[in-house]
Amino acid sequence: MIIYGWKHMNKELGINLSKIYCCPHCNNSSHYKIIRHRLYFTLFFLPILPLSSKYYEICPICERGAKIKKAEAKAILAS
Ligand SMILES: [Zn+2]
Repeated sequence: MIIYGWKHMNKELGINLSKIYCCPHCNNSSHYKIIRHRLYFTLFFLPILPLSSKYYEICPICERGAKIKKAEAKAILAS
């Protein structure tokens, strides 16, 4: 029997130190985090193959934010 499925995984890539945002949800001012959200194909519960990647800039306190493009995330992390 083969057990397969999908799993969502987040990885924090860094912090946007160039700007301080005022979060519209929690009203705290802070540097936003850049995260990568990936969907993996799993085989026997082990992530084998990344199927899609999305990048987000999120508030570190309430974890709400906006989707950004990969190029924007790379530019923010390089600065
Ligand atoms: Zn917030």
